[in-house]
Amino acid sequence: MTDHSPGPRRAPGELLRRLRLRHATDPVTHVERVPARAGEPVGWPGWAPAELRAAFARRGVTAPWRHQAEAAELAYAGQHVVVATGTASGKSLAYQLPALSTLLADPRATVLYLAPTKALAADQLRAVAGLELDGVRPATYDGDTPRAEREWIRRHSRFVLTNPDMLHHGILPGHAHWSGFLRRLAYVVVDECHTYRGVFGSHVAHVLRRLRRQCARFGRLPGQALAGSRSNPTFLLASATSGDPATAAGRLTGLPVTAVTEDTSPRGGVTFALWEPPLLPPTGPSPDDDLVQIRRSALRETADLLADSVAEGVRTLAFVRSRRGAEVVAANARRALDEAVPGLGDRVAAYRAGYLREERRELERALLHGDLLGLASTNALELGVDLVGLDAVLICGWPGTRASLWQQAGRAGRSGDEALAVLVARDDPLDTYLVHHPEALFGRPVEATVLDPANPYVLAPQLACAAHESPLTPADLDLFGEGAKEAVDSLVEAGALRQRPTGWYWRHRERPEVDLRGEGGAPVCVVEESTGRLLGTVDGGSAHFLLHTGAVYLHQGVSYVVDSLDLADGCALVHAEEPDWSTHARDVTSLSVVSVRSYVDAGPVGLFLGEVDVTSQVVSYQRRRIATGEVIDTRPLDLPARELRTVAVWFTLSPESLTAAGVEAADVPGALHAAEHAAIGLLPLMATCDRWDIGGLSTALHPDTEAPTVFVYDGHPGGAGFAERAYGTAAAWLRATRDAIAECGCETGCPSCVQSPKCGNGNNPLAKAEAVKVLDVVLANLAMAGYAGGVPSPDADLEPEAGPGGALPRQGDRVARPTPAP
Ligand SMILES: [Zn+2]
Ligand SMILES: [Zn+2]
Repeated sequence: MTDHSPGPRRAPGELLRRLRLRHATDPVTHVERVPARAGEPVGWPGWAPAELRAAFARRGVTAPWRHQAEAAELAYAGQHVVVATGTASGKSLAYQLPALSTLLADPRATVLYLAPTKALAADQLRAVAGLELDGVRPATYDGDTPRAEREWIRRHSRFVLTNPDMLHHGILPGHAHWSGFLRRLAYVVVDECHTYRGVFGSHVAHVLRRLRRQCARFGRLPGQALAGSRSNPTFLLASATSGDPATAAGRLTGLPVTAVTEDTSPRGGVTFALWEPPLLPPTGPSPDDDLVQIRRSALRETADLLADSVAEGVRTLAFVRSRRGAEVVAANARRALDEAVPGLGDRVAAYRAGYLREERRELERALLHGDLLGLASTNALELGVDLVGLDAVLICGWPGTRASLWQQAGRAGRSGDEALAVLVARDDPLDTYLVHHPEALFGRPVEATVLDPANPYVLAPQLACAAHESPLTPADLDLFGEGAKEAVDSLVEAGALRQRPTGWYWRHRERPEVDLRGEGGAPVCVVEESTGRLLGTVDGGSAHFLLHTGAVYLHQGVSYVVDSLDLADGCALVHAEEPDWSTHARDVTSLSVVSVRSYVDAGPVGLFLGEVDVTSQVVSYQRRRIATGEVIDTRPLDLPARELRTVAVWFTLSPESLTAAGVEAADVPGALHAAEHAAIGLLPLMATCDRWDIGGLSTALHPDTEAPTVFVYDGHPGGAGFAERAYGTAAAWLRATRDAIAECGCETGCPSCVQSPKCGNGNNPLAKAEAVKVLDVVLANLAMAGYAGGVPSPDADLEPEAGPGGALPRQGDRVARPTPAP
């Protein structure tokens, strides 16, 4: 007979105590009690129609939370607003309230809702349709919408839900069919707007400007009933919590945006533990005579924690990044449990994306009844399964953003009870930093969503699209912002636009081909060889890294191995296979400075932002065991070199300052290299990016700077905003980098501090202690020069240097010498 009881209910603190007891040295670096919070309901705004209030009441919403009402009031008064509050804080109501009130009050008004995915749009459609409001006729309009329905939607729907891709490919080029809808557009809702970051975000920023342009155009048409009022829709954005959401939303829309950030919704309490797996005893000497020191892998640690919690009778969910990793965790936990009590292992399972609906329901049932106590899953679970009654959540490795962290942690907690969440650090500088700096997780967020609409590689194709939609006028150049005139000139020169007295005209019959999500060269198709099925595409820039022959390629949690990559055809042939290793490409890189945009002169130290040309070539890849991280072998690759013009941040130090700080000349290359790795690893703390978005180069003498230099650059043509953010927050960013290295308990450097998984030089040379000295010199001199960039304070903007145009420091009194010639 199966025991259907879920086991004794343990207080989270008690469970945590028992988990810690099993370790000789305490792996817990911090325990945060996130207290339960009562919600702050307020009255409905006076303008909210009774019909709408009644509809919300039928759904169980009897009053809005204060932050919802505040955002709604601002939007209803015509102010562009971004709501940046936690997961499940009711951001939908904040935009539904003003948008639907307006639709009910004005029978002609329309609303356009944008979601990053079709699934989210479908979700929101259900929510709005469920309110059953007369005359709103909500409808999704995307690639799946049958042709036959499209015209009806354009004519009759007043709440259209779509995505930026459809707006770009379908709605804006076909604006003539949408003139009635756009002329009457009252609100544009941009949901999950933090997902519009980097190059994709920069494209979306211009799609929104194109939308505003068409609205204004139709708003000017004679004979319009609602004189002028609908030509400038109000933007209502929803974002995950982030650093400076108003600036990010402002860049995305090109409009001044007010942020509402205080979350007043209720939540259950969570005991949140930060867990650092112990360092293993050194295993050296390795073949090259270096001591190899690593931490116990986060996967093993998570598997043990899962087994221990299940043995305690606690319902536990473990989030693991890859599907293969989730299976390793489940298998190890099962084995450990079976060793203790034969048969107990059956109460742990791995959850895979792609489960059928019935399978998911069965899983939910088993967990609910306690047949199953432990589950290891990728974050695919967030989408498909509705789990209730979990007591503990284990998060294997920093999930990349605070939003994901809270989304995963939020899975725990039976109906308002206290729950336990544990973040298990991986061997990675950012994970290490976070478990030692809880204030970065639980304090005020600093990671900002960054994008760079002035990127010429984005601006020019977007202006081509705009010109195709309707000729560009000089006034439009202001709308598209910095760099627009130069981009238009380059399009004229290339023969894409023709200048006439009335403006710039698109010269071709066909539409310009621009993919919002494609970055850096033509995308490469990933094709399953045996079936000919197209699995997806990878942008040209990443293909060398991700799709080289022999690469293990993950697609929606399923693992494939690449048989061949044909760059001429833009196609990689793969077969499904789950080897127990992962692959890591290595490249060699050189870099030259093209121009300097801005810099800080700090005596022996210089901090710069500018354009650079990067030449890189993927030359080999390593195979590593998934469970242990052990390197199996390194295999050569034969791929062509690639050129990238992009934006970089770099710092230089005089050799004398290094000598004075006690860094011997022989250690300079290793010190700079180690500082570079850790700086790249920590940048996601300041901007929502990952390692793939950024590259780096360090050298004891660079021909362009004539000094020891560390470069960190955007890995996308024209830049994506990451280097710029790094420059604007350099003091905080480099301080965190310095602390991450100094606080790591290893002796000579490990993956938790200065080693990088994508180092083109096999992590050689690296000088850990000297890297700290290098960063101390940089920080001390920046401070002495009065540069405070990026030191967060409760009442100051993160970028005290920000000029009126954005996050770039002004060329003010801190700049004491002229900009060097390119
Ligand atoms: Zn270390
Ligand atoms: Zn390196």
